[in-house]
Amino acid sequence: MTGSLSAGVRTVLLGASRNRFLRRSAAKYGMRLGAARFVAGRSLEQFVPIARELNARGFAIATAILGEGIASRSEAAGVTAAYGDVLDRIAAEGLNANVALKLTHLGLNVDPEIAFTNLQGLLERAGRTANRIRIDMEESAYVDVTLQTYERLRAAGFDNVGVVLQAYLYRSADDLERLSSLKPNVRLVKGAYLEPQSVAFPRKADVDANYLNLIECALAANGYTAIATHDEAIIAAAKAMAERLRLPRSGRFEFQMLYGIRPDLQRRLVGEGYVVRIAAPFGPDWFPYFMRRLAERPENLGFVLRNLT
Ligand SMILES: Cc1cc2nc3c(=O)[nH]c(=O)nc-3n(C[C@H](O)[C@H](O)[C@H](O)COP(=O)(O)OP(=O)(O)OC[C@H]3O[C@@H](n4cnc5c(N)ncnc54)[C@H](O)[C@@H]3O)c2cc1C
Repeated sequence: MTGSLSAGVRTVLLGASRNRFLRRSAAKYGMRLGAARFVAGRSLEQFVPIARELNARGFAIATAILGEGIASRSEAAGVTAAYGDVLDRIAAEGLNANVALKLTHLGLNVDPEIAFTNLQGLLERAGRTANRIRIDMEESAYVDVTLQTYERLRAAGFDNVGVVLQAYLYRSADDLERLSSLKPNVRLVKGAYLEPQSVAFPRKADVDANYLNLIECALAANGYTAIATHDEAIIAAAKAMAERLRLPRSGRFEFQMLYGIRPDLQRRLVGEGYVVRIAAPFGPDWFPYFMRRLAERPENLGFVLRNLT
């Protein structure tokens, strides 16, 4: 596949991820498209045995209820209650799992104050069982409000909350610098959304270079760094940086990867003694997430087509 063809496929898939009709149809036709490879079940009941097995194989987990951009206060309350159930179930099952969620899923588009209050309640609940919640980073229009929410929660005394910075954004190095006095628990990613050149590096080489720079700065600071990528070259460079800084293999940083992507690499890192957390989301609203995974690697479309035949 040529670079421009795969860029075109990526744009179409990311467009599909936001299409309401396709989303509803996909929910109706179930996971026949092959989403089960990337999605850890349609319900909490289906997630639990998958999580137990991942833990048994040495992986930590970050789970999420799939869904984003809900449009009413009552929907946001429903999602928040469902996350409360997830936190309780993690504790009851003794799973090595925390939660990563999107502020738009907690009501950010309805009113930022609703999302803040919902998250605050969940952090209190997570804190009762010594668990943590990370706020995912969404499209660039949400970065300011997401970082402000994180800073406000830290100022209110919550230290069981984490945040995400995206290497494709020009601003992320400055954001990391600004957050550094908080010794943040930060997950670093390349970035999954379609962003204009005015805010994001258009060239992959620049994204990768910025990613390495962010990892170096985050590891050298005194917080906790989650390096979330499947890029072997970046993982190798991160390991070398950690060694130069004499950081132990657990306690100051971890690697994170998505459920179903590069399981060989996931196993190898656990075998080497690194902490590896698998992002294992579940839920009936899996379609946009699945489309984003296909957009990252349009070759995966072959896998979907094979499931349809
Ligand atoms: C744990 C975790 C949390 C994330 N949270 C966020 C977030 O909050 N906000 C956000 O914007 N983005 C998030 N992302 C997505 C991220 O921004 C990238 O879109 C995604 O990780 C793909 O980039 P990469 O770093 O793996 O590198 P790439 O350069 O895209 O890929 C490197 C290699 O990884 C493999 N690979 C990557 N993706 C796939 C795939 N879909 N299928 C098969 N193989 C693949 C391929 O071998 C590829 O050559 C998260 C990613 C992870 C792993």
